[in-house]
Order: sequence, then C-alpha cells, then structure tokens
Amino acid sequence: MKTMTCRQLGGPCDLELSAETADEIIKAQDRHLREAARHGDKAHEPAHEEMKGRWKHPMKAMGWYRGVKKTFAQLA
Ligand SMILES: [Zn+2]
Repeated sequence: MKTMTCRQLGGPCDLELSAETADEIIKAQDRHLREAARHGDKAHEPAHEEMKGRWKHPMKAMGWYRGVKKTFAQLA
C-alpha cells in the first residue's frame, strides 16, 4: 500500500489516499473529487473540472498521468 495526498494528485487538500497501484490511487482521487463536488466544495472545483475535462486535453492529461505514475513508483 502506498499513500499520496490529494495535493500530490493535483487537488487542493492534504487528504491521504492509499492504494496498491497508481491507477487505483487515481481512481480514489477521482472519487474524492466527485464527492467534494457533490458537497459543493469550492476548493476542489478546479481539480474536478480538470478531471472531467481530461479527455478534452489528452496530451495534458497524459503528462499528468505519467507524473502521478512516476511519483507513485518513487514512493517507498
Ligand atoms: Zn482533496
């Protein structure tokens, strides 16, 4: 199990997310962003919008995805 924070995943808070793989931690973050959006959390709005717009900016999203994978791989 490795841990990354919402902030490390492009979000605004220090909530810790744990997962076995980078893909799982990305899913956990997506879930967290959707949850925050549902509760009307303004701080998470930009990150949530970015998540929803990932398919519109595949190059940028790919760079973000690679960055997360790399950070995840470097965690102890
Ligand atoms: Zn957060």
